Amino acid sequence: MELRDLPSVDELARDSDDPLAVDAARVVIARARETIRRGGDPGDLAALLADELSAARRPALRRVLNATGVIVHTNLGRAPLAEVALERVIEVARGYSNLEYDLAEGQRGSRQDHVEAILRRLTSAQAAIVVNNNASALLLALAALAEGRDVIVSRGELIEIGDGFRIPDVLARSGARLVEVGTTNRTRASDYARAIDERTALLLRVHQSNFRVVGFAEVPWLEDLAAVARGSSLPLLDDLGSGALLDLSDEPTARASLVAGADLVCFSGDKLLGGPQAGIIVGSAELIERLRRHPLHRALRIDKLSLAALEGTLLLYLDPERAVAEVPVLRMLREPIDAVRARAERLAAAVGGEVEETVARVGGGALPLHELPSFACAVEESLAASLREREPAVVGIVRDGRLLLDCRTLADAELDEVAAAVAACR
Ligand SMILES: *Cc1c(COP(=O)(O)O)cnc(C)c1O
Repeated sequence: MELRDLPSVDELARDSDDPLAVDAARVVIARARETIRRGGDPGDLAALLADELSAARRPALRRVLNATGVIVHTNLGRAPLAEVALERVIEVARGYSNLEYDLAEGQRGSRQDHVEAILRRLTSAQAAIVVNNNASALLLALAALAEGRDVIVSRGELIEIGDGFRIPDVLARSGARLVEVGTTNRTRASDYARAIDERTALLLRVHQSNFRVVGFAEVPWLEDLAAVARGSSLPLLDDLGSGALLDLSDEPTARASLVAGADLVCFSGDKLLGGPQAGIIVGSAELIERLRRHPLHRALRIDKLSLAALEGTLLLYLDPERAVAEVPVLRMLREPIDAVRARAERLAAAVGGEVEETVARVGGGALPLHELPSFACAVEESLAASLREREPAVVGIVRDGRLLLDCRTLADAELDEVAAAVAACR
């Protein structure tokens, strides 16, 4: 085919009554032109138009079967929600709700009321507030408590969390000034004490999240930091990042941080907690009240779907055994290795792959050194790209010329879908 043989956009779109046909035909013709210029054959233009139209109607945000072995995978949507949390979302989203309405009084209420009591119960805090995500939580707390004044942070905690999100940048945006103390590997409580002056508004501790300094390293105990803060009547804010609600290996819980003396503790809803994207701040009633009244609170507020999912997830935590059984992140974290191996064996038998020992990760900036024993089913590396194109997509790990499908992050119910996808891609 030559360039002059190509139909016009209108000619190609003419036979279709699809309202998107002209736009799609433009894309198809432009691509065909390019192919012809490079000496190729553009193929059946009518069929390409049909493909283009169906692609335009396929959702871009799609389901993925996570075979990476990274449980809280930021690129794959972090935490899958528990079934009861999903039910709450559907129920609340389908119609109206008492989002900001006090049903007992018949007057305006606060969206915070739906989760404050349960967060208090789960963390023993005096008060709680939830916002859009933990970055917002940090921004709100710093803006409300330290705008135009100094915030003291250890040099070892000025971290980048991922995708360019850096603690010093958030601090600058809040209007607070950063005062760095200590060194990359060693900071003591006395370093904070020495840096305090009349401009100081707050002491900030940031959980190292996604890395650890090993070797000649020292960080002050939170108790010692709290004593320094109390001695100068300054609040201590502890950004836990992941922030577990249950004791999970060496990841700090919000409750422990409050017991150690932090005045405010903030953490994510969709990391180890295993709920929706949200930022949770718990602690002193007086400080939380200042956050509530700050204008940024309105800009950073949590939406009703997330709030419904968060409440549904938190309700599970009232019974820790139920949380471990039903919150997917906790279930994957705690699943015995034999169950993971059995799943890998079943997948390998179904697709003719090989069972391989692997190491899974918590992800989401939590427990970076924590290696979770796991098993994968290894298949040909050449399947990786076509598995990503499937519906649902399957994403694994390419290593040593093979594609590893890690079974710690796959659910039993997803195994048949993975096996069918592998079969279809061969
Ligand atoms: C992940 C993380 C954040 C940001 O939380 P988001 O919920 O992703 O906004 C902030 N601080 C620390 C220490 C983190 O690990």
